[in-house]
Amino acid sequence: MKTILVTGGMGYIGSHTVVELINKNYDVIIVDNLYNSNKIVLKRINIITGVTPKFYEVDCCDYNNFEKIFKENKIDAVIHFAGLKAVGESVNLPLKYYQNNLISTLNLIDLMNKYNVKNLVFSSSATVYGAPKSVPIDETFDLHVTNPYGRTKLMIEDMLRDYCFVNKDFNCALLRYFNPIGAHKSGLIGENPNGIPNNLMPYITQVAIGKREFLGIFGNDYNTVDGTGVRDYIHVCDLALGHVLTLDKLFTNSGLVTYNLGTGKGTSVLELHDAFEKACGFKIPYKIMPRRAGDIDSCYANCDKAYKEIGFKAQYNIDDMCKDSWNWQKNNPDGYTE
Ligand code: NAD
Ligand code: UDP
Repeated sequence: MKTILVTGGMGYIGSHTVVELINKNYDVIIVDNLYNSNKIVLKRINIITGVTPKFYEVDCCDYNNFEKIFKENKIDAVIHFAGLKAVGESVNLPLKYYQNNLISTLNLIDLMNKYNVKNLVFSSSATVYGAPKSVPIDETFDLHVTNPYGRTKLMIEDMLRDYCFVNKDFNCALLRYFNPIGAHKSGLIGENPNGIPNNLMPYITQVAIGKREFLGIFGNDYNTVDGTGVRDYIHVCDLALGHVLTLDKLFTNSGLVTYNLGTGKGTSVLELHDAFEKACGFKIPYKIMPRRAGDIDSCYANCDKAYKEIGFKAQYNIDDMCKDSWNWQKNNPDGYTE
């Protein structure tokens, strides 16, 4: 049985990936400082899988306490989700983002080197493509970022590329996620944003649950099917499975690999809104608002490379994603509570 250390494993994507790893018989250790997550997640993972993973409440920026995890365990691979991810906040508090995302990753690479752990999956983002020259976007597209959050992702990708260049026995996957939404079928784990959600799906679910009055749609004059922004939404359980497939690849001594993880399909804001109404069975009021600064018309992936090299293909469609997001929100109107 291989042991996987999951940083940020109590968070949205991390918790779903932990469930998939346990389902595939991996031994999982979670490290998370609970900055953007809740300890209840551990209990929920147990209800779903029958297993409670070993959990360290540690900040990955705290080198000494982080090192204890490597001292106490024999780790085969690391999946590195831990990080701050709010684009708007990163513009106002850039140093917080550089500090947290870069230091935690530098500590991780240093410890992996020290304890001879050779396999790493890193959570990158489609944000590294900036405003792409065309869609769909493949992995060879130019990289340029437009905000400090995105810059931390690109800087970490660059660090890992430099590191892999001279450490040929180090296997590393840079996974560029498109827009994860949805939740585990059980409705026990899901996305649990603090405060006013920045992203579209959690905003819609909060309107549905009565926490927000209406959805503001940021612009209807984009060059898209109906004028609203188009994105590549992927079910978080598909994304989680993508990590398991990626590990299989790393264990063949892959060296450095980079994959887009999306569905390859674009969905507009209005299309997602309409699919959600269908899933919940009632109207979600909305108003057209001005464009949000920095937004682009369309962003969706070409996922051929991940299909060819690791057999990744998303199974769930937009209707499934809306159904599962609603199921999660309905069962947990206030997020994680006992
Ligand atoms: P999340 O906030 O739900 O999960 C991140 C977890 O990391 C949280 O539980 C948080 O407490 C923890 N964490 C943060 N800093 C830490 C530190 N220094 N030490 C220990 N734990 C720390 O976010 P998520 O949506 O699950 O995203 C996971 C990763 O995927 C992030 O790196 C994010 O940037 C990346 N990503 C997310 C999306 C998205 O839309 N959700 C898209 C692309 C990339
Ligand atoms: N969006 C919106 N209202 C919201 C949040 C988002 O209209 O309250 C739009 C946004 O302009 C974009 C799409 O929904 O076109 C997806 O936005 P999100 O922030 O979820 O993802 P990202 O833009 O980072 O890909």
